[in-house]
Amino acid sequence: MAPLPQPVTATVAAIYAAYEAAAETGFRDHLGASLIGGECPRAIWYSWRWATRARHTGRLLRLFDTGNLAEARFVADLRRVGVTVMDVDPATGRQWNVRDASGHFGGSMDAVAIGFPEAPKAWHVCEFKTHSAKSFAALKSQGVEASKPQHFAQMQVYMHLADIPRAFYLAVNKDTDELHGERVRRDPEVGMRLLARAERIIAAPSPPERISADPAWWQCRFCDHAEACHGGARPERHCRSCLHASPAAYGGWSCQRHLHALSRRQQGEGCAAHLFIPALVQGEQEDAGEDWVSYRLPDGTEWRDGVPA
Ligand code: SF4
Ligand code: SF4
Repeated sequence: MAPLPQPVTATVAAIYAAYEAAAETGFRDHLGASLIGGECPRAIWYSWRWATRARHTGRLLRLFDTGNLAEARFVADLRRVGVTVMDVDPATGRQWNVRDASGHFGGSMDAVAIGFPEAPKAWHVCEFKTHSAKSFAALKSQGVEASKPQHFAQMQVYMHLADIPRAFYLAVNKDTDELHGERVRRDPEVGMRLLARAERIIAAPSPPERISADPAWWQCRFCDHAEACHGGARPERHCRSCLHASPAAYGGWSCQRHLHALSRRQQGEGCAAHLFIPALVQGEQEDAGEDWVSYRLPDGTEWRDGVPA
């Protein structure tokens, strides 16, 4: 007979709860380079439009923290073998940030480094990742491009935006501490294609096509946005879910209803004139007026968005 699972002790439960209490539940301002290689463009658009607020368990948050803590060790390991690693941007004293021309797409590079034994004179973007044993085995046998296309895309974007010709992908097997290092060459065509994809997603006023119409499709079962996409869950009322909001130049946002720019704080708060982007409402649009839209919902009832009748 299989052993019964051990209950979580009060101490462990308290540790998990502390992680949950300290977790950031906000949304990311920009569209992250770490997402752009994802297969489903709709999922990327949902993240960009803040469709689903991240809510992770304490155990998972601690796992994310394990990945963050590993970065300092990767840097120390590289320095130990003579690699010059710049883990912060000397111009700002903070993480290396890169953005595209719109200011809406980009990310934070783990480090920039030179002096790798394989290519001592070339600057590299560094990407550090922790892997499960299974994922690490696939990485070793297939390489990062085939086994982790999202990480590969992330590095291509960083190389493109930072104008650095190579990347160094350094990964660890969490079970054994075995390391895998791989140099990646910048492919300008791939970089431009990824930037164009980001541009399309940023400009799209409504969600792109689903990767599958079947909620049981494996990618949909693991998707953070499954409830919004297949389950009809409406996002929170904030500017990113409002049909009056649109991205503006230099990473800004503007409101076509009030004709003003929207600060980050205002975007999170929204206002009383908020109207959902119609594609975020599971229902048929029936009628509309000033500051309202009515829908026929799948259960046959009418639902009015905006000011009351
Ligand atoms: S649930 Fe499926 S189709 Fe919908 S956004 Fe997620 S991956 Fe894409
Ligand atoms: S109408 Fe209100 S919620 Fe909509 S974009 Fe403008 S300020 Fe934001």
